[in-house]
Amino acid sequence: MARAQFLVLALLCVHALLGALCLAAARGASGSPGLRGWGRGMLAYAAGLALTLGLALPRPVAAFLGNTLIAASAVLAIQGALHYGRARLSAAWWGPGLALTAVALAAGNFVAQSSLLANFVAPTVFASLVFGYGGVRLLRDPTPDATRAARFVAATLLAAVAVWWLRVLAMPSLLAEPVDRERLDVVVSSFAIAQVLLGVGATFGLLWVEVRLVQAAIARMAFTDPLTGLPNRRAIVARFEEEAARWSRTGMGFALAVFDVDRFKRVNDAHGHLAGDALLRHVARVLGGAKRTEDVLGRLGGEEFVVMMCGHQSGGESTAADRLREVVGATPLVRDGAALAVTLSGGLARFPEDGTDWDRVFAAADARLYEAKRGGRNRVVGAAAA
Ligand code: GH3
Ligand code: MG
Ligand code: MG
Repeated sequence: MARAQFLVLALLCVHALLGALCLAAARGASGSPGLRGWGRGMLAYAAGLALTLGLALPRPVAAFLGNTLIAASAVLAIQGALHYGRARLSAAWWGPGLALTAVALAAGNFVAQSSLLANFVAPTVFASLVFGYGGVRLLRDPTPDATRAARFVAATLLAAVAVWWLRVLAMPSLLAEPVDRERLDVVVSSFAIAQVLLGVGATFGLLWVEVRLVQAAIARMAFTDPLTGLPNRRAIVARFEEEAARWSRTGMGFALAVFDVDRFKRVNDAHGHLAGDALLRHVARVLGGAKRTEDVLGRLGGEEFVVMMCGHQSGGESTAADRLREVVGATPLVRDGAALAVTLSGGLARFPEDGTDWDRVFAAADARLYEAKRGGRNRVVGAAAA
């Protein structure tokens, strides 16, 4: 086996390993279409390189099939990588592009005696267009949960394009007679090393993207109430801490309104828990639609909701909380042709007047909520009345 073939074999092994790693990592319930696509691209590239070795096929056939597969592998890989951005590769242009590349390769290998030119340039032109498009689109429009990682991948894609063209441009002078074999070896090996580094870099970049996406999904789950999709208690307490920190800088206080559905147990008992769940989602929707944009609505658990109200005029929170109560009371849930009405009781507390930590402010709102319950329900109790 010639020295150049050993280099191809090394490239082939590294890319086969990267491809297998991606496919293995992409397995699982959630799947990772990006990683899967990239992994298939790496495996197709390795298979293309294996074909170009021409161990069992006539040279022109091996070169034609291998280089066509190498060109196609770029499509698979970039289709995968673009899953981490908003753009997609359109078959309307990669299809004809790939067909044209195959024609150029066929002409170079079977018709004209310019196989070196065709085998070098045709796949490079096509793969550059595909990688260039993928790199630019991913750089400009990366997935929001993994911006930096996706941009890193984009940078490796664009660097690969640069390396391929440097190789194409370097070739004529290297192949000019008399050929300086040592110089040729050094340059060809350097390009192979660069290719390995970029393949490894892009693959680890995609794994980095995946890690960030999983982290973001876990964080979303940890801070979201699964029944209503609202921020949960953990998210609300975190937001409370943020607002408290802002107060220490700006002196702007805020209010916490805690709402509890009245006689909710009766709904479950009379209509079943599914109806109860539907009613909780309905209350969440109505509160979400009626609150001000800047107010933060969450579900504390059970049939308790909370609204953090920031930037209201003095006394405004009480009016706003009462309006929310009224809207929910006036908007029954229509289910199976029957209207299911509920009312809310609420307790209102203010930061910093009622305390400067969550426990104190929440305890004050909760005490007023029970005041409202004792007072006959379907009402909001604020500081003055408590
Ligand atoms: P009050 O007016 O005093 O608040 O009366 P209530 O019936 O609303 O209060 P209570 O605390 O006795 O009952 C609350 C009920 O809410 C009991 C529990 O089964 C129900 N509940 C809590 N979480 C859920 C939920 O996620 N889905 C459903 N369907 N019911 C829930
Ligand atoms: Mg209740
Ligand atoms: Mg309750």
